Amino acid sequence: MHAFRAGVAHATRRISWSTPVPQTLFPSCMTRGLRVTLVVAPLFMNVVGCDSDRNALVPIQDSGGSIVLPGDIPTDVQEYHYAFNLGTREAHSKLNLNVAPPGGDCVTLHAPTGISDLRWNGAAPVDAEQDGGSLRICGPSLYAGQIILEGRFLVPEQTYDFTPVGFTRTQARDNTVFSYLLGWVEQCDRFGLCDDSPASQARFVLDVTHARGELTLCPGQRTQVSQTHTRCELLQTPAPTYSAFAIASNPGWNRTEWLNVDGTKLIFFETQSGRLARSLSKPEMTDFLRWAKNLLGPLPYGQELRIAGAPTHWLGMEHPANIILRDTLPDLPNREYANMTRHVLMHEIIHQWAGNRITMAHATDFSWKEGIAEYLTYVYELSKWPADAAKTRAHWDRLARTAMYYPGTSDNPVPFLTFAGETYGTGSMIFFVQLEDLLPGGQETIVRAITDFLSGPPRARSVAELQGALEQASGEDLGDYFQAWVYGTGDADWPTFQTDAVRANGELSLTVTQSALQPGKLYPAKVVIRLKGDTQELDVPIDFGLHPTTGTITVSVPFEEDVKSIGVDPENRVVSWNANASLSPLEAPPQHWIF
Ligand SMILES: [Zn+2]
Repeated sequence: MHAFRAGVAHATRRISWSTPVPQTLFPSCMTRGLRVTLVVAPLFMNVVGCDSDRNALVPIQDSGGSIVLPGDIPTDVQEYHYAFNLGTREAHSKLNLNVAPPGGDCVTLHAPTGISDLRWNGAAPVDAEQDGGSLRICGPSLYAGQIILEGRFLVPEQTYDFTPVGFTRTQARDNTVFSYLLGWVEQCDRFGLCDDSPASQARFVLDVTHARGELTLCPGQRTQVSQTHTRCELLQTPAPTYSAFAIASNPGWNRTEWLNVDGTKLIFFETQSGRLARSLSKPEMTDFLRWAKNLLGPLPYGQELRIAGAPTHWLGMEHPANIILRDTLPDLPNREYANMTRHVLMHEIIHQWAGNRITMAHATDFSWKEGIAEYLTYVYELSKWPADAAKTRAHWDRLARTAMYYPGTSDNPVPFLTFAGETYGTGSMIFFVQLEDLLPGGQETIVRAITDFLSGPPRARSVAELQGALEQASGEDLGDYFQAWVYGTGDADWPTFQTDAVRANGELSLTVTQSALQPGKLYPAKVVIRLKGDTQELDVPIDFGLHPTTGTITVSVPFEEDVKSIGVDPENRVVSWNANASLSPLEAPPQHWIF
C-alpha cells in the first residue's frame, strides 16, 4: 500500500482467466497465520468455514514432492527484467521472485490496473484479483524456489501527484525531445508489476527499444545492442526501485567523456547548447570524487557514471550509475546554494552510496537520504569554500524552521512531496549540524557515524539505525535528542530562544530561555548568542546539553560596552523560531527544490 497516495480506490476486481481452475485451490480468506495452525490441526482446519466459493483446504504436493500449504508467499523480488518501447509505450515486466519454505500459491504485488497477459512460470495464472493498487496472483503451489511472473502494460504518458513521476516526452534544448520514465519512492508500480516497498532492493535488466541511433540511458552497465535497442544490466550491487526504474533518452544528446579519475569516468550527455559540463571545474570535481571514494568506497554501480542534462523540474535525480541534472542549473540564481550546478552534482554523486546502495527502510527515511547527501556535500564545501557552505547552512536552517513535519514523522505525509522538500533542511540540520556542537569530536564524529551507517552489505536502513550509528560513534545517549527533535506527529514544533542581558554592579549577566509550543518540552541544544556593542562583538555559547533539565540558563559575560543588539544563532546552527515572531513560525518557507 502506498504510504502517501491519496484517493486510491479499493474496489476488488476479479480477473477471469481462460485456464480451467484446478482442484488444488484454497479459500482466499486463508492467511499465513491460519496456515501455521493448519500444520498442527489439519482435521479441525478442514472444516473451518470461509465465505469463499473455493474448495476445502487440503495440503498438496508441489512438483518436487514437498507438502505445500496454500496461502500468500511473502513478496521477495530478486530481479526485474523490464522491456519498454519508447515509441509505443508498451512495457513487458518479468519478475523473478524468491520462494522460501513453506512456500504457498499466491503472490501480491503492486500493479496498475490494465495489466494484461499475466504469466505464472510461463503459464496463465489460476487466479488474479485486483484490489486498488494491488494485484494478487495465484498459481500452482510451490514449497521453495523461484516464481517468474510476467505481465504487459501500456504505460500512459502522464505524471502523478504534482511530481514529474511517470512517463513524459518534453521539448528540450536545441529543438530536441527528452523522454523520461521516472519512478521514485513507492511509484514503480506506475509502469507494471512491481514491489514498490522502499526497502526492497533487486537486480535489474532493462531492454529499451528506441528510435534509430537515439542515445538512451538506464541503470547499470549499458550496452548498445543495435541501432534501436539499448540494454542495461544491473546484476551485481542491488538497487532500490525508487531510482532504478528509470529510462532517459534524447536523440540530440552528445556523449562526452569528461573526466577520468583513477579509472572512474564521468560521462556527460548534453545537447549542442548544453552548459552543465562547461560550467563545472574538472580539478574541483576530480578532487571531490577522490574525497567521496576515499570516504565511502568505490562507486557501487560500476566505473562509469553518466550525467545527462534534461529539461526537468527537479534539479537532479540519482539513478544508479546515471544522474539526471536539470539543464538550466547554470542559469538559476545562486540563491539557495552558492553554486547550484556543483552542489547538485556532488549531492547526486553521494546518493550512489546513500539512497541507492544503502536505501530507505520506510518512505519517511527520505529524511536521512537527503540529509546525508546534503551534509556530506556541505562538509566538502566547508573544506574548500567556507562562504558557500555558510550559504548552504542558512538555506537549510530556513527550510527546517518553516517545516511542517518532523524528520522522523510518524504521520503519512500527503502529498509526500511536501515532506520530501523539507528534509533537505530538517535532515541536514537536525541529524548532523546541531549535533556537531553537542557531540565530542564534532564534525569528525558525525562523518564517522555516516560512513559506518553506509557500510556493510547493500540494504535498507532507518532513521532509528542512523541514531544508533551516531550513538555508537559518539558514545552518547541520543534518546532525549531524537525524541525532542526527530520523532513526532502533527505539526513540527521548534524552540524559541528569548534573551535578556542585565548589567548589575558592573557585571553583565545574560539569561537565555527556551520555550516550545508543547508545554514543558525541552530541546537538547547548544545555541550561540551574539552580543554587539559600539565596537565589540562577542559570541556566547549557551549549552542546554543532551539531557536538559532546565529551559533557562544564566551566565556572566565579560563584555564591557553597552549591549546594542543581541543575535540568536547567527551562524544558522540550531533550528529555532524567531522570538520576535511571538512563538509562531510566521516566516514563509524558501523554495523547496527536489534533487
Ligand atoms: Zn537528493
